[in-house]
Amino acid sequence: MTLTPGGATHRRTLRWQTARVLAVRDETPTARTFRLALPEPRPHLPGQYYALRLTAPDGYSATRSYSVASAPEETGEIELTVERLADGEVSEFLHEVVVPGDELEVRGPIGGFFAWDGTSSALLVGGGSGVVPLMAMLRHARRTGRPDLVRLVVSARSPADLYYADELPGPETLVVYTRQAPPGAGRAVGRLAAADLAPFVRGGEDVFVCGSPGFADAATAALEEVGVPVESIRVERFGPSG
Ligand SMILES: Cc1cc2nc3c(=O)[nH]c(=O)nc-3n(C[C@H](O)[C@H](O)[C@H](O)COP(=O)(O)OP(=O)(O)OC[C@H]3O[C@@H](n4cnc5c(N)ncnc54)[C@H](O)[C@@H]3O)c2cc1C
Repeated sequence: MTLTPGGATHRRTLRWQTARVLAVRDETPTARTFRLALPEPRPHLPGQYYALRLTAPDGYSATRSYSVASAPEETGEIELTVERLADGEVSEFLHEVVVPGDELEVRGPIGGFFAWDGTSSALLVGGGSGVVPLMAMLRHARRTGRPDLVRLVVSARSPADLYYADELPGPETLVVYTRQAPPGAGRAVGRLAAADLAPFVRGGEDVFVCGSPGFADAATAALEEVGVPVESIRVERFGPSG
C-alpha cells in the first residue's frame, strides 16, 4: 500500500496502467518532455513521481522513476521530462524510440516526502533535471494564483541547457548559470552559492532541493550557510535509481 501525503491509503497507485504518448517536445538538446494520457487519472501533488516500466519482447523489463513536471490541474494528462544519459538504458530508449501514439506503462503518483501541499511558503532549489518536480510546484502556484508562495532558484550550465526556458522566468525565479550566461547577465558564471540563495530566504519556509547527489549536497550546504534550518530542507537526489 502507498501512503499519500494526506495520509490516505491508495491501493490504486500500485497498479500499472498503459498511458498513451500524446506529444513529445525537446526542452534542451539533451532533455525531452513526454505528454501522456492516463486511462485511469489519479490526482498528484507537485513533487510526486511515476514509475515507468519498459518491457522487451523476451520479458526483460527495466523500471525508472520520473517526476511529474505538469501541474495537478491538468486532469488525465501528465508530463514527464527525461534527461538523456549516455548509455542510459531507459532514457536513451525514450529519446530514440518513443513517439506520439506509442504506449508506455506507468504507475503512480508516488512519493509523499517531496510533495508540496500548495499552501505553504516554499523555496525551491534545482539543478539540471532536478528542476522537473520543482516546475510542477511553480506551475501549480501560478495556476492557483499563488505565485507569491514560491521562490525558485535553478542552476543551469548555459541558456541552451535551461529547461522550460519560455515558461520558467518570472519575478519569483532566478537562474544561475554555471558555464555560460546570456548576454547582459548581471551575475558572473559560477556554481550556485550562498549569496545567490540569501535574497530568497524569508524564514519559516519549506525548502525543496533536487538534482544530482553532488548538486543536492552543495545546495544544502549553501542553504545552511545562510541560516536555513536543516530540518526544513527536503532533498531528492536523481542518481542511479530503480
Ligand atoms: C524520485 C526520482 C525522480 C526522478 N525524476 C527524474 C526526472 O524527472 N527526469 C529525469 O531525467 N530523471 C529522473 N530521475 C532519474 C531516473 O529515474 C533515471 O535514474 C535516469 O533516467 C537514468 O536511467 P537510465 O536507465 O537512462 O540510465 P541507467 O542505465 O540506469 O544508467 C546509465 C548510467 O548513468 C548513471 N546514472 C543513472 N542515473 C543517473 C542520473 N539520474 N544522473 C546521472 N547519472 C545517472 C548510471 O550510474 C550509469 O552509469 C529520477 C530519479 C528518482 C529516484
